[in-house]
Parts: sequence; structure tokens; C-alpha cells
Amino acid sequence: MPERWSVTDVLRAVGTSDCRMRLPTAVKINPVALVVAGVSDDERDPVELGVELLAHLEEESLSVADAMDRIETVTTNPGVQREILDTAAMRGVIDREDGLVRPQSGGTYVSFEADVVVREGDFSCARCGAGISTGHFVQFDGGELGPFGSTCVRKVLGRE
Ligand SMILES: [Zn+2]
Repeated sequence: MPERWSVTDVLRAVGTSDCRMRLPTAVKINPVALVVAGVSDDERDPVELGVELLAHLEEESLSVADAMDRIETVTTNPGVQREILDTAAMRGVIDREDGLVRPQSGGTYVSFEADVVVREGDFSCARCGAGISTGHFVQFDGGELGPFGSTCVRKVLGRE
């Protein structure tokens, strides 16, 4: 296969029966671009996303109610909310005692610059429902969480 394809090369390849095999390799997918684009709602696993959120909270401890306030941004399904808390506790991501939730993975918190993507548009905040024109999206391995307003994104990550 020639390294550089001239129009003639391409036409010749298309003319053969195995043209699919001989056409230049498709554009390589940039994995970084995929991360930035986020994972669609259908693909993201709410339990994984919720566990990641709990793992990234920048608080030493918070009440179960406060934890639920964050988890509600991932799912409003009470069964899934419970599963997030149970899974996080099972994996040692959080410790639950005396009605408090203690995130255990100190130091892995989301860096505001690197892992929160800001997009302009017509959004409603995933936490408070307010109409916002600047959406903050938190990037997790399991997908994207948001949009949030500037106050709520801090609240969700425990940065108040
Ligand atoms: Zn909000």
C-alpha cells in the first residue's frame, strides 16, 4: 500500500472488489477527545458515577442527608441512591458511622481546572433546577455529571 494516496490510487482501490480493505485507514479516534465529549446518558452507569462522586467529595465528613443531596444529582431513584451508598461503603470509598458519611479516598478529589468542563448554552442546573447559561460539567471516569451552576458545582463537590 503506498504511503501517500494519490487520487489515482484511491480510484484504483475503490475499483477493486476488496476496496474496503484497501482504502486508507480511517481517522484515528482521539481518546482524549472522547473523554471531553463525555459519555452519553444511556451509557453512563449511575451507580459508578455516584460512587465516583462520593470518592471525590472534598469534605472530611458529611451527614447522610448532605450525601443524598449530592447523590440526587446523579439519580432520583431511591433504590439506585441506596445502591450508590452501599456500593461506596462496600468498596471502602466511604465510611458510614453515627449518621455521618466520611469519604475515604483523600487526595483524589477533582481538580477544578482539569476535571470540570464549562460550556455555554441554555441549561437547567442538575442540582437546583435554576436556568443557567454557563454549565459546569464534572468529568468522571464513569461519565459526566451536570450541568451545574457555579455555586452548585462547588456545593456538589463539597468545596463550600
Ligand atoms: Zn444550581
